[in-house]
Amino acid sequence: MDSAAEGFGGRQLRTLQDVSVLLNSSLEFRTVVEAALESTERLFSAQGSAVFLLDNESGSLSFFALTGAKKGVLKGFKIPSQLGIVGWVVEHGQPRFVPDTTEEPLLYRNVDERTGLVTRCLVCLPLITKGRMLGALEILNWPPGGLDWEKDRPFLETFANQIATALDNALLYEELSVAHESLRELDEMKSDFIAVASHELRTPATLIKSFHQVLASGQAGEVTATQRQILEKMAKGIAWLNRVVESVTSIASLDNRPDQNQPAMRLDLVKIAQRLVSELGLLFERRQQIVTLDFASSPMEVVGNETQIEQVLRNILINAIRFTRDGGRIGVTILPHEREVEVAVCDTGIGIPRQEQERIFERFYEVAPASQHTSGTVSFLSGGLGLGLAIARRIIELHGGRIWVDSEVGVGSTFSFTVPRPLEQT
Ligand code: ADP
Repeated sequence: MDSAAEGFGGRQLRTLQDVSVLLNSSLEFRTVVEAALESTERLFSAQGSAVFLLDNESGSLSFFALTGAKKGVLKGFKIPSQLGIVGWVVEHGQPRFVPDTTEEPLLYRNVDERTGLVTRCLVCLPLITKGRMLGALEILNWPPGGLDWEKDRPFLETFANQIATALDNALLYEELSVAHESLRELDEMKSDFIAVASHELRTPATLIKSFHQVLASGQAGEVTATQRQILEKMAKGIAWLNRVVESVTSIASLDNRPDQNQPAMRLDLVKIAQRLVSELGLLFERRQQIVTLDFASSPMEVVGNETQIEQVLRNILINAIRFTRDGGRIGVTILPHEREVEVAVCDTGIGIPRQEQERIFERFYEVAPASQHTSGTVSFLSGGLGLGLAIARRIIELHGGRIWVDSEVGVGSTFSFTVPRPLEQT
């Protein structure tokens, strides 16, 4: 159908359809809005149009998108708060139709002075969505009879609604992108810091350890009883420092060389659990905690990196010991599933508040210093770095498994993780 036969109403409808397709396209948003303005401008044979964006803090209105030969001159130009016809429209939330600007006291003449154009007539509509004022839309200089406010108002208001909705979406998307980018940068900074710290801590920690050994062995001269006491205190500090260096190094290596951490071997989870329960036997004894290990069958094979899976279970077991009072119970259960094996470590410890349960798997996150958690008296209770569970989660993720916690404050916690079984067994 040609446009003459289609009639003006038909062309309005088609313009709205075109605009809606345009606004939903994936092109750069400002270009899209300008194309939408141009199609409406053509409909009224108008000379120019613009979309203004309201700055909520200053109240000023800046040109977001505009058309016409002079658009370069107005780039970045702002109309101060409450000035001009746009200022009035935004303040009142009402459209304003000005068929003859010579009789319009509100016209902000600075814009005409900049462009060298003369604004003869204009219509300005507010851009509002979900009750929020976003800015305004303006069309100017149509030929006599080109725009009839009474007749064309429904079209113009629909058009303004379309622009407002699309603008709202674009602004939201932009806000989310900025937030996402700054989170990504923060995460990168954290990884960089961890990598540097692990590198810088390792050498002095090794040096201190070996000089301590030299002194303690008497190779550097006889050790008096007082000196021996001091050396024992130093040994505790060195052991703690080494644990810190190990944790930081583990997480750095999991971050920076995930390819070298690919799981490869078949391992028996029952054997790993038995080995750890025996390795930590002295700690359970010191706290008079009762530990049990249950499994339906043995061996219980999974595919993984033995040192890493052992590290996961060790971190969880050590936490269970730390956060369970003397005389409490700790149970390890190994359950086979169709495609994976699940390990659950259950304790009768202090428990973890619901709102903290996801966060404890984040790096450097601790609910509170361990000293505040426990009634135990053993020196082993001193706090960690908040890295143990972050390391465990990263390792389990690299293995294609899952890790989670169920817990109730004052009752206890169950930490569970899964590791995939060898393919031919599933
Ligand atoms: P850290 O080595 O500092 O303890 P983790 O990442 O291992 O760091 O643990 C993070 C926090 O999760 C702990 O500080 C503690 O608050 C909580 N948590 C971990 N395991 C338990 C548990 N079995 N019972 C109660 N709280 C726990």
